[in-house]
Amino acid sequence: MAAVTQRTPLIAGNWKMNLDHLQAIAFVQKLAWSLKDAGHDFTQTEAAVFPPFTDLRSVQTLVSADKLELVYGAQDVSAHDPGAYTGEIAAEFLAKLDCTYVIIGHSERRTLHGETDEQVAAKVSAALNHGLVPLICVGETADDREQYGPSAVPVAQLEAALAGVPATADLVVAYEPVWAIGSGRAATPEQAEQVAAALRAVLVERLGNETAAKTRILYGGSVKAANIATLMREANIDGALVGGACLDVKEFTSIVRYRQHVGL
Ligand code: PEP
Repeated sequence: MAAVTQRTPLIAGNWKMNLDHLQAIAFVQKLAWSLKDAGHDFTQTEAAVFPPFTDLRSVQTLVSADKLELVYGAQDVSAHDPGAYTGEIAAEFLAKLDCTYVIIGHSERRTLHGETDEQVAAKVSAALNHGLVPLICVGETADDREQYGPSAVPVAQLEAALAGVPATADLVVAYEPVWAIGSGRAATPEQAEQVAAALRAVLVERLGNETAAKTRILYGGSVKAANIATLMREANIDGALVGGACLDVKEFTSIVRYRQHVGL
């Protein structure tokens, strides 16, 4: 097992379709206080929240007024420029709201909304064109794992998502085995590392050593305070995308503060 990563770890909370804009304000205030109380150093571990679209303006106002070090992003983006696309949200609108990141290709988008690899790639390009950092989600189902092994589907999804991405792109990859999401059954650190290493190899091949070395690969799927520290010991895991556990201020704070669990 290799040493702890030099990449600044990122702990990202995907709120999914939870918390309206008033609840979002209260939640972000509490989270900011909780991290401040704990003496959190954001240069050691970055913390990000991904609220629903309708909360983003409120979160922007709060983060900017209170000069919070928390960053935020959206959970999806349109592949299109502004125009006749009812219900969609353009990357340039998210950039105007000072979003740093945007999640693209989450398994819930792929399975519930039929999002294809081609659409994911187009969204990644749209995000990059507007200065947003795409957080690209890939991961296999239990059936995929049984049929093709652990890495084949995530690797193919990442290769497809990187079509058209320039070598210098600033992006984040999240390895989220679908069988681990919301199941309470996280991948073991060894399982997560095996796929993360394969994804790093794709980054090397597609974007070169320099970009691959600085790109963060997150693990997602039933992450909680009790399992984050062991996952973070793996060489190719640079943070976590957290679903359920990110909606609890104390638990999310504890995940962000994982270094304290093990004295890192
Ligand atoms: C997710 O949906 O991205 C996720 C990782 O969810 P959970 O942490 O609840 O498994």
